[in-house]
Amino acid sequence: MIYLKTDEEVELLREANLLIGKTLAELAKLIKPGVTTKQLDKVAEEFIRDHGAEPTFKGFPNPYGGAFPASICTSVNEQVVHGIPNDVPLQDGDIVSIDCGTRLNGFCGDSCYTFPVGEISAEVKKLLKTTKEALYKGIEQAVVGHRLGDISYAIQQHCEAQGYGVVREFVGHGVGHEMHEDPQVPNYGRRGNGILLKNGLCIAIEPMISMGTKDIYMQEDRWGIVTRDKKPAAHYEHSLCVRKGKADILSSFDEIEKVLADKFI
Ligand code: MG
Ligand code: MG
Repeated sequence: MIYLKTDEEVELLREANLLIGKTLAELAKLIKPGVTTKQLDKVAEEFIRDHGAEPTFKGFPNPYGGAFPASICTSVNEQVVHGIPNDVPLQDGDIVSIDCGTRLNGFCGDSCYTFPVGEISAEVKKLLKTTKEALYKGIEQAVVGHRLGDISYAIQQHCEAQGYGVVREFVGHGVGHEMHEDPQVPNYGRRGNGILLKNGLCIAIEPMISMGTKDIYMQEDRWGIVTRDKKPAAHYEHSLCVRKGKADILSSFDEIEKVLADKFI
């Protein structure tokens, strides 16, 4: 069932999503060689709770049993998504995708950003740049009158043109009272296919793109998803509302990128 959101609901979704941008900006200040993803998780959880929200990932049930133990997913290098924060220090040249979910005033935010750790190679920089571009290419298509497949096609096309793998098993989704609502938003598909996009449809678009194969496997912890060829993968995600002419992006990378710009001057 797809629920279109009222303007009032969209504003509540925006609040939940803007808190993620602020949380990730706090983490951006800390990300450097030697820091562990567990340390980042602790900071994120405190920051989210201090702002009156709940981290939606914490306790999220796993279909194989158990629940996610942390407030953010931290996926390093060949990990694509759902990495559990751990005590392994990040190293110079790593990348870490930090996916974050919040629930605030009954609405869920969902956004992800892939961060460089120290100095990364030109090859990996290009992967990050292309994946982020693909996200915005998808968002450009998220307007009234287009179809869901237009979003999927734009993302797939942009990434495969660079020879990258587009992960199939995990997809974007509707957002609202629940973190994952209908419809599913794949990062691959055909132009002109799928549901018609209507005003007030709120979705998360989240390309998960690998430098090599699109094939993945699940780690023994039943959470972490890794590329089969162990090549690095990137993941960027915005939540947005479909509008006429131009989507309204509800999450924000502005504060994150301000921190990154200051850091790399
Ligand atoms: Mg997410
Ligand atoms: Mg999501």
